[in-house]
Amino acid sequence: MVSSEYERRIAARFATFDQDGNGYIDREDFIVAARSLLAEFATAARSDKGQALYAGAEAFWQGMAGIADRDGDQRITREEFVTGAVKRLRDNPERFAEIARPFLHAALAVADAGGDGAATIEDTVRVLRVLGVPEGAARPIAAALDTDGDGRVGEQEIVPALARYFTVPE
Ligand code: CA
Ligand code: CA
Ligand code: CA
Repeated sequence: MVSSEYERRIAARFATFDQDGNGYIDREDFIVAARSLLAEFATAARSDKGQALYAGAEAFWQGMAGIADRDGDQRITREEFVTGAVKRLRDNPERFAEIARPFLHAALAVADAGGDGAATIEDTVRVLRVLGVPEGAARPIAAALDTDGDGRVGEQEIVPALARYFTVPE
Protein backbone atom coordinates (compact mmCIF):
# COMPACT_ATOMS: atom_id res chain seq x y z
CA MET A 1 0.00 0.00 0.00
CA VAL A 2 1.35 3.36 -1.01
CA SER A 3 0.66 6.17 1.41
CA SER A 4 1.10 9.82 0.68
CA GLU A 5 3.88 11.89 2.17
CA TYR A 6 1.24 13.71 4.21
CA GLU A 7 -0.10 10.46 5.67
CA ARG A 8 3.42 9.25 6.40
CA ARG A 9 4.22 12.44 8.31
CA ILE A 10 0.97 12.28 10.28
CA ALA A 11 1.69 8.66 11.19
CA ALA A 12 5.14 9.64 12.47
CA ARG A 13 3.67 12.36 14.68
CA PHE A 14 0.98 10.07 16.01
CA ALA A 15 3.68 7.53 16.89
CA THR A 16 5.60 10.24 18.76
CA PHE A 17 2.65 10.65 21.11
CA ASP A 18 1.67 6.97 21.25
CA GLN A 19 4.65 6.20 23.48
CA ASP A 20 3.47 2.71 24.45
CA GLY A 21 2.51 1.88 20.86
CA ASN A 22 -0.96 0.51 21.60
CA GLY A 23 -2.62 2.42 18.75
CA TYR A 24 -4.16 5.33 20.61
CA ILE A 25 -2.97 8.30 22.63
CA ASP A 26 -4.11 8.54 26.22
CA ARG A 27 -2.92 9.79 29.60
CA GLU A 28 -0.73 6.71 30.07
CA ASP A 29 1.44 7.73 27.10
CA PHE A 30 2.27 11.02 28.80
CA ILE A 31 2.97 9.26 32.10
CA VAL A 32 5.24 6.80 30.27
CA ALA A 33 7.14 9.68 28.67
CA ALA A 34 7.59 11.44 32.02
CA ARG A 35 8.65 8.23 33.77
CA SER A 36 11.17 7.40 31.02
CA LEU A 37 12.73 10.86 31.20
CA LEU A 38 13.04 10.70 34.97
CA ALA A 39 14.67 7.26 34.73
CA GLU A 40 17.12 8.40 32.04
CA PHE A 41 18.27 11.35 34.14
CA ALA A 42 18.09 9.51 37.49
CA THR A 43 15.58 11.99 38.89
CA ALA A 44 13.14 10.94 41.63
CA ALA A 45 9.42 11.23 40.85
CA ARG A 46 8.92 12.83 44.27
CA SER A 47 11.49 15.56 43.64
CA ASP A 48 10.42 19.08 42.61
CA LYS A 49 11.63 18.43 39.05
CA GLY A 50 9.82 15.09 38.98
CA GLN A 51 6.57 16.58 40.25
CA ALA A 52 6.81 19.44 37.73
CA LEU A 53 7.35 16.94 34.91
CA TYR A 54 4.29 14.89 35.87
CA ALA A 55 2.21 18.06 36.22
CA GLY A 56 3.40 19.20 32.79
CA ALA A 57 2.61 15.79 31.30
CA GLU A 58 -0.92 15.92 32.75
CA ALA A 59 -1.46 19.45 31.40
CA PHE A 60 -0.15 18.37 27.99
CA TRP A 61 -2.55 15.38 27.98
CA GLN A 62 -5.51 17.53 29.09
CA GLY A 63 -4.73 20.07 26.36
CA MET A 64 -4.44 17.38 23.70
CA ALA A 65 -7.64 15.69 24.85
CA GLY A 66 -9.39 19.06 24.79
CA ILE A 67 -8.64 19.60 21.13
CA ALA A 68 -8.69 16.02 19.82
CA ASP A 69 -10.76 13.63 21.96
CA ARG A 70 -14.03 14.38 20.23
CA ASP A 71 -16.06 11.50 21.69
CA GLY A 72 -14.69 12.11 25.19
CA ASP A 73 -13.61 8.50 25.86
CA GLN A 74 -10.20 9.65 27.16
CA ARG A 75 -8.45 8.17 24.13
CA ILE A 76 -7.27 9.87 20.97
CA THR A 77 -7.52 7.51 18.01
CA ARG A 78 -5.55 7.97 14.81
CA GLU A 79 -8.71 9.35 13.21
CA GLU A 80 -9.32 11.83 16.02
CA PHE A 81 -5.68 12.86 15.82
CA VAL A 82 -5.91 13.55 12.09
CA THR A 83 -9.31 15.23 12.05
CA GLY A 84 -9.00 17.01 15.38
CA ALA A 85 -5.44 17.64 16.46
CA VAL A 86 -3.55 18.03 13.20
CA LYS A 87 -6.04 20.38 11.55
CA ARG A 88 -6.47 22.53 14.63
CA LEU A 89 -2.77 22.64 15.36
CA ARG A 90 -2.14 23.76 11.81
CA ASP A 91 -4.67 26.55 12.26
CA ASN A 92 -3.26 27.55 15.63
CA PRO A 93 0.31 26.42 16.33
CA GLU A 94 0.64 28.96 19.17
CA ARG A 95 -2.11 27.15 21.07
CA PHE A 96 -0.22 23.90 20.77
CA ALA A 97 2.95 25.60 21.96
CA GLU A 98 1.10 26.76 25.07
CA ILE A 99 -0.26 23.33 25.99
CA ALA A 100 3.16 21.76 25.45
CA ARG A 101 5.19 24.47 27.24
CA PRO A 102 4.90 23.29 30.89
CA PHE A 103 5.99 19.77 29.92
CA LEU A 104 8.89 21.00 27.79
CA HIS A 105 9.95 23.46 30.47
CA ALA A 106 9.99 20.66 33.06
CA ALA A 107 11.73 18.21 30.68
CA LEU A 108 14.54 20.71 30.09
CA ALA A 109 14.89 21.20 33.84
CA VAL A 110 15.23 17.42 34.30
CA ALA A 111 17.83 17.20 31.50
CA ASP A 112 19.70 20.32 32.61
CA ALA A 113 22.62 19.57 34.89
CA GLY A 114 23.79 23.19 34.88
CA GLY A 115 20.59 24.67 36.26
CA ASP A 116 20.11 27.49 33.75
CA GLY A 117 17.03 25.87 32.17
CA ALA A 118 18.74 24.83 28.94
CA ALA A 119 20.05 21.39 27.98
CA THR A 120 23.31 20.57 26.22
CA ILE A 121 23.11 19.04 22.73
CA GLU A 122 24.23 15.73 24.25
CA ASP A 123 21.45 15.76 26.85
CA THR A 124 18.92 16.83 24.22
CA VAL A 125 19.93 13.75 22.19
CA ARG A 126 19.24 11.63 25.30
CA VAL A 127 15.81 13.24 25.72
CA LEU A 128 14.91 12.59 22.08
CA ARG A 129 16.10 8.97 22.23
CA VAL A 130 14.11 8.33 25.41
CA LEU A 131 11.02 9.70 23.68
CA GLY A 132 11.52 7.24 20.82
CA VAL A 133 13.38 9.25 18.20
CA PRO A 134 15.67 6.84 16.30
CA GLU A 135 19.38 7.06 17.12
CA GLY A 136 20.37 8.36 13.69
CA ALA A 137 17.76 11.12 13.70
CA ALA A 138 18.19 12.32 17.29
CA ARG A 139 21.55 14.03 16.80
CA PRO A 140 20.71 16.14 13.72
CA ILE A 141 17.37 17.10 15.32
CA ALA A 142 19.11 18.18 18.54
CA ALA A 143 21.65 20.23 16.59
CA ALA A 144 18.87 21.86 14.55
CA LEU A 145 17.00 22.75 17.76
CA ASP A 146 19.93 24.94 18.82
CA THR A 147 18.92 27.75 16.50
CA ASP A 148 21.17 30.38 18.11
CA GLY A 149 24.15 28.01 18.00
CA ASP A 150 25.25 28.42 21.62
CA GLY A 151 25.51 24.66 22.14
CA ARG A 152 22.44 24.48 24.37
CA VAL A 153 18.74 23.96 23.74
CA GLY A 154 16.44 26.30 25.65
CA GLU A 155 12.69 26.65 26.05
CA GLN A 156 12.58 29.54 23.56
CA GLU A 157 14.05 27.14 20.96
CA ILE A 158 12.24 23.90 21.72
CA VAL A 159 8.66 25.20 22.10
CA PRO A 160 8.38 26.78 18.63
CA ALA A 161 10.25 23.81 17.11
CA LEU A 162 7.64 21.41 18.48
CA ALA A 163 4.85 23.61 17.16
CA ARG A 164 6.53 23.61 13.74
CA TYR A 165 6.91 19.82 13.83
CA PHE A 166 3.16 19.43 14.29
CA THR A 167 2.29 22.01 11.67
CA VAL A 168 2.05 19.51 8.85
CA PRO A 169 1.31 21.07 5.47
CA GLU A 170 -1.31 19.20 3.46
CA1 CA B 1 -0.76 4.73 23.66
CA1 CA C 1 -11.69 9.56 21.68
CA1 CA D 1 20.68 27.55 21.90
